[in-house]
Amino acid sequence: MDLTEGEPADPRPRCSRCGDIIGSYEPLVHVSGGSARETSRAAEPHLLGAGGELFHRDCYDPDRTGPGT
Ligand SMILES: [Zn+2]
Repeated sequence: MDLTEGEPADPRPRCSRCGDIIGSYEPLVHVSGGSARETSRAAEPHLLGAGGELFHRDCYDPDRTGPGT
């Protein structure tokens, strides 16, 4: 672990595609129940415990992962 910020270990989510940690202020895509929303951990910290999958915005491919529009 690399605790450079002196905070308690938090369950930082990892991208379901590339496996890297998604940063607090990085744009992300939350996929749950067949729908995808673009948001961020800073905007919606409860997403960590909400289930579903998280992707970096740049990693999310709606043709591969979700129903699309
Ligand atoms: Zn990613």
